[in-house]
Amino acid sequence: MSKYWEKYDYDDALSRGRSNLPQIVADDDTRFEIPKIDSEVEGNRTFINSLKALMNTLHRKESHFLKFLTNELGTSANVEGQRVILQGKHSRNQIQKALERYIELYVLCATCNKPDTRLEQNDRIMMMRCEACGATQAVKALK
Ligand SMILES: [Zn+2]
Repeated sequence: MSKYWEKYDYDDALSRGRSNLPQIVADDDTRFEIPKIDSEVEGNRTFINSLKALMNTLHRKESHFLKFLTNELGTSANVEGQRVILQGKHSRNQIQKALERYIELYVLCATCNKPDTRLEQNDRIMMMRCEACGATQAVKALK
């Protein structure tokens, strides 16, 4: 008898746990996961794969990030189909760090820290508007 109840409780808890799971995740402020850079060094150049797709998930233009990245790394970049070619050898870690800085400056809302933001050019000032909390803030222009 006690065995039956143990089993019953266990199954019940399990199915309850399972059905509650999606709600728990949705209620929780799930941490924004920073996408991972996929790059490789070949000779004297560095290739970044699928950067456009990665930037699409952030609702940012590949060209905007590349401006930032080439400033950070002090190099130049060409886009060739799905690949970006950087002059010189740059470790994946360096590029990843630059992406993280970019996200901090140009993607995450300073008010609520969510990534649901859009960049808008207002005259000479670039504004970031948050779709989650409605905040707007000026962001540093890229040269
Ligand atoms: Zn916000």
